[in-house]
Amino acid sequence: MTFNYKDIRKDFPILDQKVNNRPWIYFDNAATSQRPLVVVEKIHEFSLQTNANIHRGTHFHAIKTTEAYENARDIVKEFLHAKEREEIIFTHGTTESINLVARSFCERFLSEGDEIIVTEMEHHANIVPWQMACERHHAKLKVLPFADNGNLETDLLESLISSRTKILAIAHVSNTLGTVNPIKEIIRIAHNHNIPVLVDGAQSVPHITIDVQDLDCDFFAFSGHKIYGPTGIGVLYGKRAWLDKMPPFLGGGEMIDKVTFEKTTFNELPHKFEAGTPHYVGAIGLGSAIEYIRKIGLENIAAYEHQLLTYASDKMKELGGMKFFGESPNKTGVICFQLDQIHPFDLGTLLDQLGIAVRTGRLCADPVMDHYEVTAMTRASFSFYNTMEEIDRFIDSLIRIQKMF
Ligand code: PMP
Repeated sequence: MTFNYKDIRKDFPILDQKVNNRPWIYFDNAATSQRPLVVVEKIHEFSLQTNANIHRGTHFHAIKTTEAYENARDIVKEFLHAKEREEIIFTHGTTESINLVARSFCERFLSEGDEIIVTEMEHHANIVPWQMACERHHAKLKVLPFADNGNLETDLLESLISSRTKILAIAHVSNTLGTVNPIKEIIRIAHNHNIPVLVDGAQSVPHITIDVQDLDCDFFAFSGHKIYGPTGIGVLYGKRAWLDKMPPFLGGGEMIDKVTFEKTTFNELPHKFEAGTPHYVGAIGLGSAIEYIRKIGLENIAAYEHQLLTYASDKMKELGGMKFFGESPNKTGVICFQLDQIHPFDLGTLLDQLGIAVRTGRLCADPVMDHYEVTAMTRASFSFYNTMEEIDRFIDSLIRIQKMF
């Protein structure tokens, strides 16, 4: 399949609609992506033809559903280039994946006086679970800052690391600044001190080819809905060496080996971390979304999105009164900005009236707001189904709103 955005638009019929009497422009892709027809159809077909609870039935549909679910695990394993399929755990999303590690890893490895490092640009999902773990275990959270241009102050990492550092948790790509962090280098530094690294891949998987073995990360988390798949499904990759040592996260069916009232023994990986009936329909939908983007090619997607980013940034710069948050030379198609003194909520509402969806507010990243001393931002985020014409209309709309104020 060659990359032609006009063909691609046909895969996303949801984009072909009017909002407030104007063709809808969806620039809120960092919050959630739209699903292509193949994914919607896959879920629909599957729900019409095959359904039974997995792993515990000997009948036809139980076996077929189990096979489809486990096939989705294989697709994810290939996609992340994990060594073993057992290292792929299905969760409800990035948030749950991080909580799983923060709860389970910390229960086993974090003690009073220990330290955890996160960065200043994290989404709340990669701050709060660690903060909660620190409170439970009387440990300390340390923060690697970023510079005003949106680049991490990687040089300071060594000075934050101590003999008490137990884990480092970092976003591959920031959801506000769009910065692609040098995680391979950061993982190398952490590993020199025997510190494992969790990578929050929520914003990187839709744009960057991931090879967890090459990165050598210890954990990698992402969500299905940001990668053209369904909501309610996500992934945690973990190196077997860690997952084997970590206690289960949730207790219940599926994650057990044998239960007696005196003692319960636990199932093998990955089931040890998949308590209860999993969202198998979601996993199957995610598998289909991954196959879809693999056909298009993440390199093609990234190259086209980069064109959108450059085109939009250049045009926005031409508007007077434009301030950007996050100007790293290495960033994905995310632009956070402030236009004149127009409050982001007003700007977002007016853009919506002109048929354009952007995100406004604190973007689940209060520390980033605090860094720039603002209470809110406006974020436009692009996907490979967006077009240059849409950016032109976005710019015209910004000019129109600017004139109103
Ligand atoms: N991390 C980052 C960087 C994100 O952008 C998001 C979603 N905005 C999350 C974590 C949380 O993802 P989810 O809500 O799908 O669990």
